[in-house]
Amino acid sequence: MDMFVLLYNYKTQQQKILMNSYDVAIIGSGPGGYVAAIRCAQLGMKTAIIEKYATLGGTCLNVGCIPSKALLDSSHHYENAVKHFEEHGIEIPGDVKVNLEKMIARKQSVVEQITGGVDFLMKKNKIDVYQGMGSFKDATHITISGNETTEIEAKNTIIATGSKPSTLPFINIDKERIITSTEALELKEIPKHLIVIGGGVIGLELGQVYKRIGSEVSVIEYMDRIIPTMDSGLSKELNKVLKKQKFKINASHKVKSVERVGDEVVVKADNKKGEEVEFRGDYCLVSVGRRPYTDGLNAEAAGVKLNDKGQVEVNKHLQTNVPNIYAIGDVIKGAMLAHKASEEGTMVAEIIAGQKPHIDYNLIPGVVYTWPEVASVGKTEEELTEAGVAYKVGQFPMRALGRSRASMDLDGFVKILADASTDEILGVHMVGARAADMIAEAVVAMEYRASAEDVSRMSHAHPTFTEAIKEAALAATDNRALHV
Ligand code: FAD
Ligand code: NAD
Repeated sequence: MDMFVLLYNYKTQQQKILMNSYDVAIIGSGPGGYVAAIRCAQLGMKTAIIEKYATLGGTCLNVGCIPSKALLDSSHHYENAVKHFEEHGIEIPGDVKVNLEKMIARKQSVVEQITGGVDFLMKKNKIDVYQGMGSFKDATHITISGNETTEIEAKNTIIATGSKPSTLPFINIDKERIITSTEALELKEIPKHLIVIGGGVIGLELGQVYKRIGSEVSVIEYMDRIIPTMDSGLSKELNKVLKKQKFKINASHKVKSVERVGDEVVVKADNKKGEEVEFRGDYCLVSVGRRPYTDGLNAEAAGVKLNDKGQVEVNKHLQTNVPNIYAIGDVIKGAMLAHKASEEGTMVAEIIAGQKPHIDYNLIPGVVYTWPEVASVGKTEEELTEAGVAYKVGQFPMRALGRSRASMDLDGFVKILADASTDEILGVHMVGARAADMIAEAVVAMEYRASAEDVSRMSHAHPTFTEAIKEAALAATDNRALHV
């Protein structure tokens, strides 16, 4: 008997010695997970990160933000060459052609540089990287199934497993003709007619890539406007611009079937009047949102609760119902944005280290990288109206700026919503060239609770697109815009 206990203890002791043990383990290496890992390491914690794919960086770096922007940039160059160079006095002898294979290869090389950069950051911060599927054995042990199976022990775990494309129940995504964003980043040919189901961010960004390089693009949107969660003024302006770019936009259409017939895809939808409308194309991009991803995580084994949307349930400290397990990014509630995931990664690392950080979710900006770009922060007019807040509006058109004339980027506007009595800025919404970068000024102003008049009195370099922000602030302050 004594002998048995001795052997048993020896074995468990051995197991303990062999098993790597961490202050924090992070499951998932997207912009939530890898940023959390770096911050944990900076704070002196022994940190491990687990990623089931061969490359780090998650959706954003591999099949999301970065590759989509790479293709948007390439296609924008092509569009400028075809449509605008001549006006600028630049003549190209012969035809300008797209080499799709090369365009996609450049995108992939950008992805490789950036994901390689995350590898470097992990090494630099002495973070142990495990490649394989991480699943809970219990609340402090994670099994990693990769080329071989490993088990690690973690005092704290951060779930950062992200999201996957969602679909409609009657659609069979065959990944050849009926595709998600992942396949749309890898096409072998330019679609003749790309049908896009869902007029949200992915549909419009990737739709614009293919529109610019020659596809006919039809967008089918269920709601009565594209980008329906943003301020309605932005939807209207973007709709107008995309129509000028010859997008076919079908709002208030309810898709009821999507069938592949040979090399064609047939989509049937009911329009506002209840009439059936048929769309035929060679590719159909399904971009109706994304779902939180917890497949294979075995959350039950740790006792972690999911809600009815499949998200990991967290409190305001991003802590699950199991005190040493946290969750961040797309797998929890809130906007599915890379920078939101990263802020949450930083916040959880600091909470584990005993600090008291805070995220103001109202100040997480949203951007659509079409051209013109769309950007937004704070409350929309619809939200202020619904909340019964009295507000004033200052709006300024981009076309009135010297900078816009110089670059011929005339579409769009900046709109500032300010509290009617205190003048505090409550929301900033813009469509226009470089809006994605300009929105940072609005975030800073709102972080410091600036009034519209504060911003209107700040010097903005001339000529820049940001002068539209100053002018909109002047308009909101006292209808004092100078250049209209
Ligand atoms: P993810 O980036 O999804 O990373 C999760 C990681 O966890 C994945 O690598 C996954 O393989 C891994 N994983 C999952 N389960 C396990 C497991 N059990 N074990 C091990 N590993 C696991 N957002 C923006 O802010 N700006 C943009 O411009 C933008 N463009 C986008 C374009 C497209 C086409 C798409 C699809 C998305 C885009 N997004 C953009 C959204 C952005 O990609 C996500 O919000 C962001 O990636 C979420 O980060 P995350 O860390 O929560 O999860
Ligand atoms: P989304 O939520 O932005 O858009 C989905 C669209 O599909 C909505 O307009 C919705 O009304 C519509 N829709 C839903 N069901 C429909 C149906 N049955 N028929 C027709 N239309 C329908 O989602 P997405 O574009 O798939 O993007 C997924 C996530 O990725 C988003 O949450 C987004 O934040 C993120 N993302 C962000 C960026 C960016 O920040 N620039 C870029 C791409 C993706």
